[in-house]
Amino acid sequence: MSRRHFQIVIVGSGFAGSLMAMMAHRLGFSTALIERGRHPRFVIGESSTPLANLLLEELADDYDLPFVRPLCKWGPWQAQLPHIGCGLKRGFTFYHHELGRAFQPDPDRLRQLMVGASPNETMADTHWYRPDFDQYLVEQAQGLGVTYLDQVELARVSEEKNCSHLEGNRQGEPVQLSAEFVIDATGPRGFLHRALGLAEKPFLLLPPTQSLFSHFTGVGPLPNDFGSAGQTPPYPPEQAAVHHVFSGGWVWVLKFNNGITSAGVAATDAVASALNFRSGESAWRRLLERLPSLGEIFGPSKATIPFIHQPRLAFQSAVIHGSRWVMLPSAAGVIDPLLSTGFPLTLFGVTRVGRLLAHHWQRSTFPAELAGYARVTALELESTANLVGALYAAMDRFDLFKQLSLLYFAAAHFSEAARRSGQAQLADSFLLCRNPVFSDELREICKTATQPLSADAADVLAERIRKAIKPFDLIGLTDPSRGPWYPALDPDIRLSPNRPVNPALVSRAAVGSK
Ligand SMILES: Cc1cc2nc3c(=O)[nH]c(=O)nc-3n(C[C@H](O)[C@H](O)[C@H](O)COP(=O)(O)OP(=O)(O)OC[C@H]3O[C@@H](n4cnc5c(N)ncnc54)[C@H](O)[C@@H]3O)c2cc1C
Repeated sequence: MSRRHFQIVIVGSGFAGSLMAMMAHRLGFSTALIERGRHPRFVIGESSTPLANLLLEELADDYDLPFVRPLCKWGPWQAQLPHIGCGLKRGFTFYHHELGRAFQPDPDRLRQLMVGASPNETMADTHWYRPDFDQYLVEQAQGLGVTYLDQVELARVSEEKNCSHLEGNRQGEPVQLSAEFVIDATGPRGFLHRALGLAEKPFLLLPPTQSLFSHFTGVGPLPNDFGSAGQTPPYPPEQAAVHHVFSGGWVWVLKFNNGITSAGVAATDAVASALNFRSGESAWRRLLERLPSLGEIFGPSKATIPFIHQPRLAFQSAVIHGSRWVMLPSAAGVIDPLLSTGFPLTLFGVTRVGRLLAHHWQRSTFPAELAGYARVTALELESTANLVGALYAAMDRFDLFKQLSLLYFAAAHFSEAARRSGQAQLADSFLLCRNPVFSDELREICKTATQPLSADAADVLAERIRKAIKPFDLIGLTDPSRGPWYPALDPDIRLSPNRPVNPALVSRAAVGSK
């Protein structure tokens, strides 16, 4: 059969692959998008964040993809694309459970943390119901003129004459493609990692973890007084990415507006083997027995798909680019669903690969820029893994867990403010990992947090975290009168989307940015 040639071949049609394909097409490249499965299909990874949505908005505008725009906020999404399943996300909710005991509300709210991300529903973030969301994007890509081939099982990749050759089959028929550049969007342990036999690289501060998850119907609501001790929380607590944290792991609960709830557990190997995650649904039931408050909520629920067990959650490929190929961040690595870091990491990467194609294609600068992309992607994955590793170490010490998570919220809000004020260059990497002041402190704090800590040492660390956050804190995370409920208050940032935040405020905080 004849070989079809494209300038760009993107493998994997998750949201990242489809976006990348549309961007390449808009830049004038002949583009093919190759998928192993068939839409609509289940894929995990659903909860978005303000930073992810800002990055998505920028891509929609920069590459003239107006049909992506409504997906960036709950209000426009519901008004314009109500048929695409979606969840309302007003912020991040955390509860700390003791295994074997019902969750106890306490007047000082010591066992919880709520960080609001939006002052109202219209501007709120979302959980993406990926079967619908990804199908919509792939259809838009096809509508623009991207060549889309699904049900393709690629077996080999090789290089010759300035081209990569891809070979496989589609429903028993051979498929042969050649590409000037291949972009791998197949997710962790994906196509190029396997086809090229690349090594894995461990994350040093992250414990080995596993996950077990499914989609459910019939999940009950969080009781009204869950953790609120009679007071009104900053937003309805379950309109959020809800994190139920316990020693050695945590459960996520994300509610969609189509009756489906996404839920699962990520935990250390010790917890996973004690509950025998391999056994699937029965392990989930055993976990719910140990978390009786969650057991009540999930009592009447039914899984809509078989439970998926990931025996090793985190992954990083030791090599993430070659001269004629690159992995998007989600193919380069994955850490944990904690704090919904996957989408912003992925969208930063998509943005950078877009710039690479737009400004450096067939120029002498291309190899250096490609290597630069790989460096910053690895740095972002490492910084995220450091923070998540520190959070795992603090899961039985919730006061420290809360302090550590504020590092994420400070960096995320700062990055959002920088982008909204037209100064994206001040926060051009996830977790501010190219800002030497913040990133050095983040690394050292995480290293300390993963060591055994006395109560005094934990207090010293909490103070160090407060100091690290202070220069970047635009939303009162270091104000002792706030917390553990942080409503989205900042009127400059939140209430007037068309009014930029004060650039001086952002610049002052970013002194020291590279
Ligand atoms: C348990 C878990 C929970 C998560 N939760 C969140 C969250 O709440 N928020 C968040 O921001 N991030 C989350 N993440 C991370 C998130 O899943 C990823 O960032 C996101 O899915 C990346 O999207 P993608 O389009 O790059 O890849 P994917 O969504 O992984 O899509 C990859 C696509 O490639 C296709 N494919 C795979 N192999 C091949 C092949 N050989 N040939 C052709 N096609 C192939 C697949 O069928 C699929 O369609 C989570 C990750 C895990 C593991």
